[in-house]
Amino acid sequence: MIVIIDGHNYGYEMECLTRMFFFGEKVPVTDDLSRMGEDYVYTRLEEQNGGVKLTARVCLGQQSLEEEPQVIRCPAGEERDHECERVFGVMVYHMLQKLTGKSPEWGILTGIRPVKLLGQFISDGVSKEEIFRIFEQDYLVSPQKVRLAYETALHEKFVLNQSQPDSYSLYISIPFCPSRCRYCSFVSQDIERAKKLVPSYVRRLCEELKRTADIAKELGLKLKTVYMGGGTPTTLAPSQMDMVLKCVREEFDLSNLLEFTVEAGRPDTITEEKLQVILQNGVTRISINPQTFCQPVLDEIGRLHTVQQTIDVYHLARNIGFDNINMDLIAGLPGDSLETFCASIDKAVELDPENITVHTLSVKRSSDFGAQSEITVKEEAELTAKMVEYAGKKLMENGYFPYYLYRQKNTVGNLENTGFCKAGKEGYYNVYIMDEIHTILAAGAGASTKLKQPGGTLIKRVFNYKYPYEYLDRFDEVLNRKKQILEFYRKYGKK
Ligand code: SF4
Repeated sequence: MIVIIDGHNYGYEMECLTRMFFFGEKVPVTDDLSRMGEDYVYTRLEEQNGGVKLTARVCLGQQSLEEEPQVIRCPAGEERDHECERVFGVMVYHMLQKLTGKSPEWGILTGIRPVKLLGQFISDGVSKEEIFRIFEQDYLVSPQKVRLAYETALHEKFVLNQSQPDSYSLYISIPFCPSRCRYCSFVSQDIERAKKLVPSYVRRLCEELKRTADIAKELGLKLKTVYMGGGTPTTLAPSQMDMVLKCVREEFDLSNLLEFTVEAGRPDTITEEKLQVILQNGVTRISINPQTFCQPVLDEIGRLHTVQQTIDVYHLARNIGFDNINMDLIAGLPGDSLETFCASIDKAVELDPENITVHTLSVKRSSDFGAQSEITVKEEAELTAKMVEYAGKKLMENGYFPYYLYRQKNTVGNLENTGFCKAGKEGYYNVYIMDEIHTILAAGAGASTKLKQPGGTLIKRVFNYKYPYEYLDRFDEVLNRKKQILEFYRKYGKK
């Protein structure tokens, strides 16, 4: 399938929408009208008497459809651009829906943060009924997804309100894993192979953290959340973990801190000693990620632990005193049936963690699955949609509510990832990073600092080197780049 554009530059939006109907396929965009012999989505914009006329046609195999032309009369500018994109989207969606028999549930919303748009309507005082009408009729979102987005936006709002213009969060990257999960595209290093690097990595990381803390103090920024992720942070030895966490406690002003998370992640790396170190250093939230409670599926995705190990470390963490635990599960894993997925959700609910995050499998080319294209399209998408639906229903019936939601490219069925939690147990960092409400200062290999203009919309990223060996070899440059934080705040102020 190709996207042919004529007289406008909404090619990217048309491509994203078309790809929702042709999962995993490349959808090139062209303005070459001679390519109409292939399967195509064609959209044309013509200026007409102070407005614009939009025409759209889709050709798939022997079938072709054309929509009634639409005329848009608002003056040229941002508003007209949005309306043209939307109307083209609706026209193309209707035709592809008829020709493929698919109805992507998020309608024409292709972005990663559908909740942000909805939250804006709530902030603007638009009524609930009108929001539902707009999302269902103008954006073709299914009623279930509008309800999910609405609930999420309401809960997210509480977390967003805890952030002020001088707030920031801290991300600490531990880019090592005990083995590579087959669906993962993250650049993590096998801990066994990288073992020699780890002591110097931890030392350098602490130096970078200290420099970061000095800058934050100089700028008078207030630290709201800390998130130690990766990779798998619990691949560090207890003493190394202690060194990093102590460094955070000693160097940063934690008087405004709302949350301190360590993503323990893989159960095969978690020990009682590490959990004690984590707890004693003031960490308030951890993740223990089962992904599935079905052993054959776990084996298939290359996780080297057992279901029983997950359950055991969960109880261990509880007994030690953790009162805010997250568990990640993934819908759409190869080999998982609706029955086994639902049983995994039921098991997670039975264990009763404060947070359950339901991801949809995202097939990136750089992952093992992406390279092998094992995931087939339509059946998988339908099955995954049923899994996600079951998860939402079950969790909401059991006292969990959605508080953050985002979509990734190439997720099976174009579905979403949703964080559910019990009352008062929202994962703040997740909301802040997703909403881009304040600066995230990041340390470690593969981490990127995201500077957010206080009270404004400007965002600037400062990247660290991806691989630990590069990070160590070019550490002077890592520290040097920290100057950009000061420069940014000096230029754009602290409102
Ligand atoms: S533990 Fe996480 S980061 Fe590491 S390979 Fe598995 S999914 Fe990727």
